[in-house]
Order: sequence, then C-alpha cells, then structure tokens
Amino acid sequence: MVSGLLVISPMALTNQPPTNININNNIYIYSISMNNNSYRYQLERYRGRGSRYTCPQCHRKQSFTRYIDTYNNNIYINDNVGKCNRLDKCGYHYTPKQYFTDNPWKSEGWLVGQSHRENNQQTTPKPQPTTITPLPRWFMERTLDGDSTYRRWLCRTYGTQEAHRICQDYHVGGCDDHVIFWQVDIKGRVRTGKIMAYDEATGRRCKGEGAVIDWVHASMRREGLLPEGWELTQCLYGEHLLSERPSSRVAVVEAYKTAHVGAILMPWMVWVAVDSMSGLTAERLRPLKGRDVVLFPDEGKGYQMWSEKIAAIAAEVGFSYRISSFMEGRESGADIADLISN
Ligand SMILES: [Zn+2]
Repeated sequence: MVSGLLVISPMALTNQPPTNININNNIYIYSISMNNNSYRYQLERYRGRGSRYTCPQCHRKQSFTRYIDTYNNNIYINDNVGKCNRLDKCGYHYTPKQYFTDNPWKSEGWLVGQSHRENNQQTTPKPQPTTITPLPRWFMERTLDGDSTYRRWLCRTYGTQEAHRICQDYHVGGCDDHVIFWQVDIKGRVRTGKIMAYDEATGRRCKGEGAVIDWVHASMRREGLLPEGWELTQCLYGEHLLSERPSSRVAVVEAYKTAHVGAILMPWMVWVAVDSMSGLTAERLRPLKGRDVVLFPDEGKGYQMWSEKIAAIAAEVGFSYRISSFMEGRESGADIADLISN
C-alpha cells in the first residue's frame, strides 16, 4: 500500500525540500504541517511596535500578534491570522489550522495529500492519454460547502432547492465569500476554477475594489504548488454534464452565470459556457461532436463574432447548430441571463 511513489511524487509535485516530507504512513503532509503549528507556524516575536497590529475583532491598535510561516521567509499567513493580546477582554485567536481549514486552496501541501490518496488506490500510475494534468478532485470537493455572495443571490432569486441543484450539478464552490466556478471536463478531470466576486443583491459581478478575479491554478502557481511546465487547458464550463445527458440538446453561452440561469429556466437543455467571447474555438467545442447545439451569444460584438466563427468550427468538430435570435435587437452587451431572469 505504501510505496516509494508516496515520497517521490509529493516532492516532484511541489518541489518541497525532503525535510518537509516525512511521510512514513497514512498521514497527509498538509495535516502534518497543520498539526505542527508550533514548528512551522509561529506567533511573530516582538520586534517593536511595528510587529504588533490592530486586532480584527476589538480593533485595539498594536495588540495583535500575527502568525508567520517559518518555512516560507516568515511571511504572514493572512492579516487576520493571529492572536489578540487582550486575552480576557477580547480573546480573538485565529490559528493557521483554522485558516487553512476555512481556505483549503491556500494550504500548502494539499496537492501532496492528493497524490498520496491516489497512490493508495493504485500502485502503478495510469498512463495519461493526453498531456493534461488535472487538479486534485478532492480539493475541489473541499470547496463545495463554501458559501458565497453568488450562491446566496442564486438562492434568493430562484429558491434554495433550485440553487442547490445548480450548485451540485455544476460543482459551484465558495471561498472567502467568493464563488469558484470549477471547470470539469467530460472525463471528470478538474482543469481549474475561476474565482469571482458578485454583488449579493443584484447578482452582478463586482467591479473595482473587491472584485477579485483569480484562477485556482494561478493561485497554485504563485504558491509553487504546480509541477514545472504545468499548462492550463481550459474546457467548457459544464462539460462534465454532457456525458450524463448524451441525447440532450446543448446550449452554449459565454458566461458561467448565464449557464446557471439557463439551466434553471430551460432545464431540457445542457447549458455550457465558454468563459469568454473568444473562448468559442474548435478545441473547446470538441466534446460537442455529434450533438445538437444552440448558441446564445451576447448581444453586440459577441453575436457578430460567434456568427462569423461557428460555421467553420461546427464543420471541423462535427455538430449541427443554430444561433438563437433571442438576443437580436437587445441592448448591446446584454446576455440571455439579463433577459430571462428579470
Ligand atoms: Zn482583540
């Protein structure tokens, strides 16, 4: 059960020095590092007033000590991860362990946990038919209980039951109140996740400050958690649903939210999104081979671009299609979600 792979692959995947990887048995490295807070994560030593901060709970200045990561240049884990010095009056204490439980995608070593788990299930690595290296599925699953402003908007607008169904079908995750739209391909491989901020009241994307748009793979790359040379290959958003409903008509839209709204209001079609106007390519649409496809481009530029491109793509991939005229004459830039959800 425990093989050499266990030790080799974590190192290969994360480039961690061997000292960090002390796995002899069924323990994930990330739980090792979380439990070993006393070694790796420490409260910052007092180095004058500059090393004490305003407490996020009681807001007292210079009474908050943050945790540092001693394995990583003593950087702070997060501004709010630390301990208030006013033990009786405030008592705020947010530990690294709690933080990484709340924000699993920020926890170093989760990739190691994945490879460990895979190695338990199979002793020989499966040959990859393509060069696609998926992200760990269990990691996505850990975010699926996460709440987000987007999810609350979905609940309020369409009811808890429908919202729940959509979030399950599409693997909608949450982290720090941001929504994570996971791209899972037709073979169930997790390609990446798009992290976005929405206004809870309007269901519109936040703009300006606070509108954090990030990708899970980009975040992992910054943390050094991806193997060298790892390249993103996006897939259709909702692509995994195609194999579950092989004979349903397929609706193609640009935005993830539009796919959700469509799936709620016209559930007889499988709704997939291409992420951006320029995401309509033969490569991305390859899984639509043999399907009956309706495109719902956004009004304006999107409509024009898709109309020009689709004939060649459909011929190359091999699917029948029509472009919905639903959006014609609508406000420029509007999408079907704007119309059918109002
Ligand atoms: Zn405090």
